Amino acid sequence: MTPARKKPTKKKRSGKAKPQHVFVFSSKRTDGDRTQVNLLGGKGAGLAEMSRLGIPVPPGFTITTDVCTHFSANSGRYPRGLTAEVKQAMGHLEASLGKNFGDPHNPLLVSVRSGARVSMPGMMDTVLNLGLNDQTVEGLGARSGNPRFAWDAYRRFIQMYAGVVMGVKAASEADPDPFGAALDGLKKERMVSEDTELDEQDLRELVKRYGRIVKKSTGTTFPQDPKEQLWGAVAAVFRSWDNERAIVYREMNDIPSDWGTAVSIVAMVYGNLGETSGTGVAFTRDPATGEKRFYGEYLMNAQGEDVVAGIRTPQPIAQLKRTSPGAWRELQRIQRTLEDHYRDMQDLEFTIEDGRLFMLQCRTGKRTGFAAVRIAADLVREHKITKEEALLRVDPEALNQLLQPIFDSEEIDAARSAGRLLCKGLNAGPGAATGRVAFSQHAAIAYAAKGEGVILVRIETSPEDIRGMQASNGILTARGGMTSHAALVARQMGKVCVAGAGELVIDYSTKRMRVAGKTVKQGDWLSLDGTTGDVIAGRLRTAPSQVALALFGKGAKAKKARLQPTFKAYTSLLKWADKARTMGIRTNADQPDQCAAAILLGAEGVGLCRTEHMFFGAKKLDLMREMILAETADDRRKALARLLPLQRKDFEGIFKTMGRRPVTIRTLDPPLHEFLPHDNKSIAKLAKDMGVPRAQVKAKITSLIEQNPMLGHRGCRLGVTLPEITRMQSRAIFEAACNVAQRTGVRPRPEIMIPLISTARELELQTAIVREIAEEVFTKKKQRVPYLVGTMIELPRAALVAGKIAETAEFFSFGTNDLTQTTFGISRDDAGKFIPAYIEQEIFDGDPFAHLDREGVGRLVRIACDEGRATQKDLKLGICGEHGGDPRSIDFCQEVGLAYVSCSPFRVPIARLAAAQAALRRA
Ligand code: PEP
Ligand code: MG
Repeated sequence: MTPARKKPTKKKRSGKAKPQHVFVFSSKRTDGDRTQVNLLGGKGAGLAEMSRLGIPVPPGFTITTDVCTHFSANSGRYPRGLTAEVKQAMGHLEASLGKNFGDPHNPLLVSVRSGARVSMPGMMDTVLNLGLNDQTVEGLGARSGNPRFAWDAYRRFIQMYAGVVMGVKAASEADPDPFGAALDGLKKERMVSEDTELDEQDLRELVKRYGRIVKKSTGTTFPQDPKEQLWGAVAAVFRSWDNERAIVYREMNDIPSDWGTAVSIVAMVYGNLGETSGTGVAFTRDPATGEKRFYGEYLMNAQGEDVVAGIRTPQPIAQLKRTSPGAWRELQRIQRTLEDHYRDMQDLEFTIEDGRLFMLQCRTGKRTGFAAVRIAADLVREHKITKEEALLRVDPEALNQLLQPIFDSEEIDAARSAGRLLCKGLNAGPGAATGRVAFSQHAAIAYAAKGEGVILVRIETSPEDIRGMQASNGILTARGGMTSHAALVARQMGKVCVAGAGELVIDYSTKRMRVAGKTVKQGDWLSLDGTTGDVIAGRLRTAPSQVALALFGKGAKAKKARLQPTFKAYTSLLKWADKARTMGIRTNADQPDQCAAAILLGAEGVGLCRTEHMFFGAKKLDLMREMILAETADDRRKALARLLPLQRKDFEGIFKTMGRRPVTIRTLDPPLHEFLPHDNKSIAKLAKDMGVPRAQVKAKITSLIEQNPMLGHRGCRLGVTLPEITRMQSRAIFEAACNVAQRTGVRPRPEIMIPLISTARELELQTAIVREIAEEVFTKKKQRVPYLVGTMIELPRAALVAGKIAETAEFFSFGTNDLTQTTFGISRDDAGKFIPAYIEQEIFDGDPFAHLDREGVGRLVRIACDEGRATQKDLKLGICGEHGGDPRSIDFCQEVGLAYVSCSPFRVPIARLAAAQAALRRA
């Protein structure tokens, strides 16, 4: 979340109010403060705030992000008045330091630093030591009494400025940086290995060589006028907002392009003055684990870029205590002050100039999901923030990281550098999986039976692949989007999934695929990072996370994991979330083990049990096929009668696991032909089992094929035309509920849900069947259970006539997968092909199957809520589409007053936190 943009302060000049473009910070005057992050960038706001707190910060000024936006929109022109404001700020800087910009005897040097609202590490440009030229370098040398240092600063400046502003770079990725090469060449000539071993004369020579490189590459000499240098650097930093790396980073992190970067111009302090000087970066807590320990690294006799660019190996920060005890003590005091002031983990940059410490940066530090949870919980324990603040600080998606198996990060880096990254797909199911490639469920099951990890690779998955998916560690598909079958089922199973990797060319017949010029065969090792969407050749080591072990594990290891600080923080945070939220959290699950996992993850009920998923066991699938292919109603009833006990047993398992919690069970929904075999071998087997000719089975399959199955014979249309299916399912549900009530003494709470209705009459007919069977079973069993009959709202017409539907329905559950599909008229299984282009061209601001479209689909949801409530004031409303696990969509659910959201088991913790945030934002 970004704080609301504070309006720039207005300045009165010649009676006309003008926006302020330049904000000064120094010990004498500071214009900005921490609240102005949007205008001054994180760095600018941090420098201003530290100055206000009396922390030693070199003075300077910040040019606002508004100027960057103006610059980008007006072909590199600045707003009127900026030059004068910069001149004035420079005057202030000169006066406060008693040095002058461009003065050959006592020159002021500055750094020109980028800094957007949120940290974009390394994406934009920065220039240090600006203001040096052939004269000022002599002045700096004389004043500091250290000419070697002055020439070192000058050679660094030329290299940085020429690279950033004048575009002097290596000719290609394969070529060395020309300045680096010149430096190495000189070191060789002087027979030294370290930069620090070059003396003043060597550096003078190096500056000459650098000058020649600039001349040769640009045809011009290096600019000697400090003002020209300054404006050149400011423009280059603004331009760097639109360089390729920054654009890609923004896209990856949902950062709007109109935010712009600020530019901070800061008086130089020197970490390269000698062995009593240095520079470093630090975090007030460990950004990877969240542990409360001062964490960072530094280098003596160096400038900032030496640490960041890894030119020399930096020292762990704790060693500073020995090498520079005074600066260490001061740094400790400051880091504590800053963390207490901001009440959050801070990312700091500092320089020690001849034993004196200066802070160059302070901003809220980036952190992993693990660290986010731990830091938030620890700060509450330390009485620094409230529980509500802690809840609002953690990105719900970060909880994913805590549950998923992990890849060893060093192994990933090594695989990348070795060119083993094959392609990228949609990060549909987070986590890390590694295993042997299986192109069929048969192969997947076979590898799993041998105890091998498996990656199931399919062009797309269908319900027929379900067992193969179950047997696999990860699922990779060439087609399909975030709500494609593969993605949906994988998330529900908690499996890693990369979907829609369009570059894969899969050939089932040869059991091979081609990608990135390589061939991958069945049985080869492949690794999937479902968090990033990366597909990597070969095997990478994975391990279950500590939190998963603590939640699901047994024995000593699990016991130990429960004592880990991260797990304790996770439990605390979610306990607070449960207290803060007003919406219930249910899960989409259709197997007892999924239900059990969901309960451990905090689910309070089942919001959607897709009964079709229960028919994929070998025996049930055969019976289902017989039922579908039956020629007469009588044959169909016979097949259903054999299915009944199997289905009843499934429901018993779920009811037993869920106890008193509500269980929403949906009657059969998908097109029937999805259950049918498509290959000759399976057709032959089925014909044999049924005792009918193969041709008859084939003909029936052909007759069931639909042009547009998603809009065809599915949903309640099955129950309307084949009511015996609804009858069988209702009987199985109520018999199972009564059996469990009698066996355990706990009465289950089934909620029967009719899918894909568009008229009130459809629901009336189906409800009548359900109620008739319920009474029949209750009488026979001499046992009653409380139950509800309601419907899904997943077609636009249903939303529009919801008032009428609510005359029969006891609850609504929004099926926003189908509602999105039918509102946009976009097939959810084919959307992956064009949605990226729609997002790129800003037609959509995100995938509508991932984030609920408030404007259109959301409008229908609102209408349905209002109409439904007008008929039945307390109508229970929930959501079971995939949006029920998406924080942004959960916020919308809170807004329209839904009673609960339902999502796949592994998203339950995310939903708990997102629901708490949504409630707190509206409190
Ligand atoms: C939906 O359409 O949102 C829904 C939950 O049903 P399914 O995804 O099974 O079609
Ligand atoms: Mg649906």
